[in-house]
Amino acid sequence: MTPEEFRRLGHEVVDWIADYRARVGERRVMAESKPGDIKAALPASPPSSAEPFEQVLADLDRVVMPGITHWQGPSFFGYFPSNGLLASVLGDFVSTGLGVIGLSWQSSPALTEVEEVMCEWVRQMVGLGDGFSGVIQDTASTCTLVALVSARERTTQFGLARGGLQQEGQPLVVYGSVNAHSSVEKAALLAGFGRENVRLIACDERFAMRPDALEAAIREDLAAGRVPCAIVATTGTTATTALDPITPIANIARAHGAWLHVDAAMAGSAMILPECRWMWEGIEGADSLVLNAHKWLGAAFDCSLYYVRDPDHLVRVMSTSPSYLRTAADEQVKNLRDWGIPLGRRFRALKLWFLIREQGVTGLQQRLRRDLENAQWFAGELSQAPHWRVLAPVVLQTVCIRHEPPGLSGDALDTHTLDWVGRVNAGGQAYLTPALLEGRWMVRVSIGAEQTEREHVAALWSLLREVTT
Ligand SMILES: *Cc1c(COP(=O)(O)O)cnc(C)c1O
Repeated sequence: MTPEEFRRLGHEVVDWIADYRARVGERRVMAESKPGDIKAALPASPPSSAEPFEQVLADLDRVVMPGITHWQGPSFFGYFPSNGLLASVLGDFVSTGLGVIGLSWQSSPALTEVEEVMCEWVRQMVGLGDGFSGVIQDTASTCTLVALVSARERTTQFGLARGGLQQEGQPLVVYGSVNAHSSVEKAALLAGFGRENVRLIACDERFAMRPDALEAAIREDLAAGRVPCAIVATTGTTATTALDPITPIANIARAHGAWLHVDAAMAGSAMILPECRWMWEGIEGADSLVLNAHKWLGAAFDCSLYYVRDPDHLVRVMSTSPSYLRTAADEQVKNLRDWGIPLGRRFRALKLWFLIREQGVTGLQQRLRRDLENAQWFAGELSQAPHWRVLAPVVLQTVCIRHEPPGLSGDALDTHTLDWVGRVNAGGQAYLTPALLEGRWMVRVSIGAEQTEREHVAALWSLLREVTT
């Protein structure tokens, strides 16, 4: 494809995306395809000769679109909002068009320096102190893995340079809450702690980690000769957006010399609203934290911001300096390969640069406030309606609900819940995610797609009443 052909076809693709976004609300939300449908529509082997590109684009509609669940649609209330706002889509496009890779500062200085400044902008936007330094990683899962590896190396005083965890005399322990994201346990396992050394701490009636239970677990481990290494607190848990109390947890971490990592993957975006910052009060006591700009904030996936208190420690843990990557500038610049796991890095900062400039902080704040108000309105309607229950405090944009008709409980209630949510999703008018809360099924209504207005939430509410009568 020559640049001239690209110009013509690229305009077509941009038109295609623009049409898609303009009319995404007319589509049924959940993909209708059955397992294997999409594979069956694709040739089993690659074409041996070139095909007309028009044909490829036509197949996008024919083959791919039936297998798309429309996250950007106004009636998408599943999982969490992952708003690839169009300005950030263009940033992603430019990044790919440039086709540069950040191996070192010198391999494309702008890639590193725009990233540094974007991390700094976001730091200010969310009201974090200037003692934090940031870097962009792919996902929160990666950030949490980096955090736990950093914790491991701090506790073992760089055991990686010796025999690693295989030579530690005492087991090192990681703590999270029973409502922590599955990525916490995964990171602990990948970092070599072992399942026996992962403690999932009990929560209170608001589904937040109980500091007293954390302290008790640590004492028990100490008494048994184990070493408290890292605590992962969550600001905005996945099931209910519960808020672990950071201040007491940070005090416990400090008292026992444990690393505190805060997983604010979802709720971190809300911290651009000063009225939400109480939710992570005490955050200055964290050693590291992650927030996903690719969720509610609006940066196209993937764009996780990882902030640390001690970048020198991070670099010491992550750096390798093969000769072919050393440059004369190394003393004056950041080589972001030493701030995480992959060597190569995409120019992800362009997505943020385009997004933040096109929206302005005020524009981003307005949208988030709209969503918070919609969630409060929806929760208010439900709590006044007979047989509907809001199961957890609505602090952000997620409302956890259950329809509890008289006489139904236990397994029968679970069956009822899964039945009505299944019918909502199959109907295609809206998309919701069921999840387990304390062993029972409930439904999460996650409000906050870019196109979701009050009318869409109201339409959902009508639909819910309809499917349950
Ligand atoms: C979404 C989410 C994650 C996982 O995010 P990835 O970026 O997909 O790894 C982890 N923790 C919380 C609290 C989340 O909301």
